Amino acid sequence: MNLTLLQGAYIIAGLFFILALAGLSKHETAKAGNLNGIVGMTIALVVTILAAVLGVKASGGIDVQKGAGATGLALIAVPMGIGAAIGIWRAKKVEMTGMPELIAMLHSFVGLAAVLVGWNSFYAGAEGGHHGIHMGEVFAGVFIGAVTFTGSIVAYLKLSAKMKSSPMMLPGRHAINLGIIVAFFVMLIVFARLPEPAAGQVDNLAATLLGIMTVLALFLGWHLVASIGGGDMPVVVSMLNSYSGWAAAAAGFMLSNDLLIITGALVGSSGAYLSYIMCKAMNRSFISVIAGGFGSDGQVTGEAKDYGEHRETSAVEVAELLKNAHEVVITPGYGMATAQAQYAVADLTSKLRARGVTVRFGIHPVAGRLPGHMNVLLAEAKVPYDIVLEMDEINDDFPSTDVVLVIGANDTVNPAAQDDPTSPIAGMPVLEVWKAHDVIVFKRSMNTGYAGVQNPLFFKDNSAMLFGDAKDRVEDIVKAL
Ligand code: NDP
Repeated sequence: MNLTLLQGAYIIAGLFFILALAGLSKHETAKAGNLNGIVGMTIALVVTILAAVLGVKASGGIDVQKGAGATGLALIAVPMGIGAAIGIWRAKKVEMTGMPELIAMLHSFVGLAAVLVGWNSFYAGAEGGHHGIHMGEVFAGVFIGAVTFTGSIVAYLKLSAKMKSSPMMLPGRHAINLGIIVAFFVMLIVFARLPEPAAGQVDNLAATLLGIMTVLALFLGWHLVASIGGGDMPVVVSMLNSYSGWAAAAAGFMLSNDLLIITGALVGSSGAYLSYIMCKAMNRSFISVIAGGFGSDGQVTGEAKDYGEHRETSAVEVAELLKNAHEVVITPGYGMATAQAQYAVADLTSKLRARGVTVRFGIHPVAGRLPGHMNVLLAEAKVPYDIVLEMDEINDDFPSTDVVLVIGANDTVNPAAQDDPTSPIAGMPVLEVWKAHDVIVFKRSMNTGYAGVQNPLFFKDNSAMLFGDAKDRVEDIVKAL
């Protein structure tokens, strides 16, 4: 294969990835964005495999990369086939509610791949006489990969409720994190300055340093994410997304693959920007979150308080309330996703609109368990985009709203975030639903949400609880209308 052709194909694939990111930033263009991503990835895979199998020649017939031939093709095709089959099976099987943990798991694979590529690259040695640079790439690549690997596994465990979402508070945790980072830089300098061993030999000191650093980085990834509380998990998920991009870019440097560097950098920087936006939306310090909760003493109580009695209502009563309403706002949360209530909610919305009621949706930036989770569900149920508003666009309108339907949301509508400085979610902006005339909360019990804190909203005079599965209760209301 010709080098110019390979590089041209990589540039075209890179452009498709940029178009994919641009498309994914808006509802209307998200599908096209996804399609661009698929086209880009297909081009990237096809040319990379061809280059590996056929080899790459520069002009004048000089070999840039030797072809691995039919054996190489088999070595690529078999694991790829097995991986693709597992991927298709998992993607088809996964419920929308299981997406966040699946994504966290996939991030961990990118991290693991970077660690393996790094170690392999260390044993293979530098090509073309840039030993010091090569060693630096290996050391940094393995570090980023290992942090991403264990951090993503902890995120997976926390998101799938296999591990408690409350922050783990080891004594001296900031000193531990800082110590590992300082140790990484010191070892990096020593590692990169070690003399190049003779061909086929491995420097024992280098292997020991790389081994120690791998263990430390695996611990750091686990510790950073385990130290972060439930309310900050959304930022952690997007941060790990960013780390997985940098891990891929590092692997690209080690494999001398320009497209992997470009793609990794795109994922890394867009993930970092998403984390920054989410931190701003949640009033959190970006540095504090990525440093494992640095700056917070972790002494948040979230303990049970006596907020008085709650009031219960029925689907028939809610239907009556809605018949007389002019302005209705629906604020969905994670419970809408678990109940798969989005179709029933869309049905209720169109029935109310047909009766002349103004219905709008208020979406909190971290509602559900994925950035954009609610938007995806509502789009799937064909709720018109123009009535789906962001938290900042709708918060001022609650005082003039007749009825708010809180469908399976909890932390994102918790007034304690504003009123209780000891709350784990203190300072997080929330949907101010309690300012409306009537608030109906759809949930199955008085249990807490993801952050594990009580919600005083449920005990306010203008709030009423509609217990049961959100889908069933919404369908009951539709019938009663
Ligand atoms: P919450 O997780 O705070 O609450 C969801 C509520 O839904 C629960 O209180 C639960 O109550 C109820 N529920 C569950 N199943 C059903 C059902 N079948 N029918 C009716 N109700 C149900 O949700 P929010 O969306 O308000 O908040 C999201 C939380 O997740 C935030 O703390 C956020 O930080 C965190 N998070 C968000 C991520 C993101 O990227 N968006 C990623 C990681 C974490 P009950 O059990 O009583 O029914």
